[in-house]
Amino acid sequence: EPKVPHPKRSIILAIANQKGGVGKTSSAVNLAYLLAIAGLKVILVDSDPQASATAHLGIDQAEAHAAGTTLYPALRQEKSITEVVVPVCDGQFDLVPSTIALANVDIELASDPINGGPLALRECLAPLRETYDAILIDCGPTLSMLTVNALNAADQLLVPVQTETLAGLGVSMLLDTANKLRRRSNPNLRILGLLPTLYTSRNAAEKMTLDELHALFGGVVRIFDPIPRTTKFTQSARAQMPLLKAAPNAPGAGVYHEIARTVINHVTAEDADVAS
Ligand code: ADP
Ligand code: MG
Repeated sequence: EPKVPHPKRSIILAIANQKGGVGKTSSAVNLAYLLAIAGLKVILVDSDPQASATAHLGIDQAEAHAAGTTLYPALRQEKSITEVVVPVCDGQFDLVPSTIALANVDIELASDPINGGPLALRECLAPLRETYDAILIDCGPTLSMLTVNALNAADQLLVPVQTETLAGLGVSMLLDTANKLRRRSNPNLRILGLLPTLYTSRNAAEKMTLDELHALFGGVVRIFDPIPRTTKFTQSARAQMPLLKAAPNAPGAGVYHEIARTVINHVTAEDADVAS
């Protein structure tokens, strides 16, 4: 892989879908790794109270919580975001760990329009742009206040979507939300694309859903090639390492490389308005 010469600007990429178990965390962890080995300075912000990305990268959330190195105190403005960063993946990139305490932050954000509200995370993450080329946000499986905050903080949105019945409905709702936020609070928000996941090509129903996603959204957003279903992703989460670090040619590797290339194009582009 050729290293990226000189990133011209940073990108904040939210990885979101209000449905759980669709490959958000697996995608976030593997993309962070690919962007890092391409030469970008990368940080992954785990905003899911379930802390799956934190666990996947071998950080004990209870220890991180006790040490105060999680997103929680930063969102509450008790600490700067730069004080809650930990190195992961043999130092190849950084992480802002999550903690179950973030489950409470939703109510706190909603009840305090001055210190909280829908723009608190954007403000909280802003200092990271000084240091990092790519700031990835792994979102939780709800359209919570925290997820809305992530969409308001983001330049780009990647939507992993499991190829199962009614997947299109969830995607419609999320894209509608993104459109509203673009009008109201985050005019910069672009859709990087949909990423079909957990795909079995010989399963007729899944093939039909993939065709349906193309019919519904193909004209509106980019749809990446599907990530095949393979237990290797679950094994790598258990081994606390990005799959593509342990197995660079694992199924789906080519697709994740393609997404990484798209992200790299955004940070190296001369034209500041190449987004979308
Ligand atoms: P989310 O963050 O959307 O909840 P995860 O990335 O945690 O999704 O994935 C949910 C579960 O599915 C995890 O156990 C993960 O290891 C597994 N998984 C993720 N991607 C794949 C895939 N392509 N094939 C099979 N299992 C996968
Ligand atoms: Mg997750």
